[in-house]
Amino acid sequence: MEQILKELQAMMPTSHEVAVRNSKVLAQEVVGTINIPYPFYVKKAKGSRVTDVDGNDFIDLTMGFGPILLGHNPDVVVNAIKETADLGSHFGLTNPFQGELAELVVEAAPCGQKVVFCNSGTEATMYAIRAARALTGKNKIGVFVGSYHGAHDYVTVTADKKSDPNRPELKSMGRGVPKETTDQVFMLPYRHETAFDLIREHKDELALVMIEPVQSSNPRLDQGPFLQKLSAVCKENDVLFMMDEIITGVRLGGFHGAQEFFDVPCDMATYGKAIGGGMPIGAITASANIMEVFNFHGEGTTIFSGGTFNGNPMTSRVGTAVMKYIKAHPEIYPYLTEQSERLASQVNTFLKEEDYPANLMNAQSMFHLIFTKEPIESAWQVSRKTWQTEVLFYNHLHKNGVIVPGIHLFFVSAAHTPDDIDQVIEAFKKSFGEVRAKGAI
Ligand code: PLP
Repeated sequence: MEQILKELQAMMPTSHEVAVRNSKVLAQEVVGTINIPYPFYVKKAKGSRVTDVDGNDFIDLTMGFGPILLGHNPDVVVNAIKETADLGSHFGLTNPFQGELAELVVEAAPCGQKVVFCNSGTEATMYAIRAARALTGKNKIGVFVGSYHGAHDYVTVTADKKSDPNRPELKSMGRGVPKETTDQVFMLPYRHETAFDLIREHKDELALVMIEPVQSSNPRLDQGPFLQKLSAVCKENDVLFMMDEIITGVRLGGFHGAQEFFDVPCDMATYGKAIGGGMPIGAITASANIMEVFNFHGEGTTIFSGGTFNGNPMTSRVGTAVMKYIKAHPEIYPYLTEQSERLASQVNTFLKEEDYPANLMNAQSMFHLIFTKEPIESAWQVSRKTWQTEVLFYNHLHKNGVIVPGIHLFFVSAAHTPDDIDQVIEAFKKSFGEVRAKGAI
């Protein structure tokens, strides 16, 4: 490890200086879970590339953790930002722009008639939970093993691996979350029939079951029948069912995302990431009836929601420009799928032929590299035992010109050319070879 760290430091001396300076004042860089193998600092980004403060170019597969569907800084985004900057970035007051974005979100979301915007996916799932509780008069929510729905108290939970995988217990992901809060959450087994039994057993307490239609920790496409049955079981048992489309929305399959791709009806959906075109955003959408709960001054059951920057003109106009572009260019979807499949199949063939203990899982343009020979069935199977080898691999990949953030999840964008994908494949092969040559695999 020492040797590769020295090589990276020699390649990125200014980044090293920034890291030292930042460490004095920043308690955390970007987000806590992102263990970027070697601290480096991005100064600018265009298309599929990022350029660091030392002037090194890398092929980026982070893509902003999902929002950058069209690649970095496309003209459509730059123009929308410039035009909006002339008008003012934030009013607080109502503006004509968020309605335009809302129309596009409603069009994209099969379950949606009305929308409420907020500033992150975390806020979106938090409000969806509050709305479901208010509407049903029940308190508990169900989430699945391996899920990620943001960083608020109710969803920062993880399965306790000492418990029965068919009836998993949960624990909070970090300190600071009261047990009284996590007691309100049920952990359901992913792609397992007992999830349906648990929902039936607890239907009188469960307000909402939420699921990522594609788990970012376990990207795959064979869960359609499970999602369909889940939707039906929730309906039969008067439990609201929500699809968290914060990553899959306008990404998976096409403009109508996972709801259309898997043909699964839901009561509510949350969106974020790509619908903001790179600006901070979250959204909750559902039928007009359900969304009436957000009408704080209305007659019926209502909830409080807030947010200084909700529906701000910059996010609304950039989101609208990108959503219009995506809608007008459906050809990006087959392109994303073709390039993504090529990347996954060529890397996996190499890994198999050379007998590496790793597998590149993907659901179209969403990827997750796991360090076991076979694809996992559930995130339950992921262990941290291989962590040191993984970090070594990501450091080599970095040196070989490709950025995968240290959470393993990564994305191909419409700006990645076939040549970029070829370079990524070669960098994966070379990096695995170097790690093996060092005896770590
Ligand atoms: N839900 C899902 C499915 C996500 O993938 C994420 C973020 O990665 C979130 C919610 C939280 O979104 P944000 O990071 O914008 O708060």
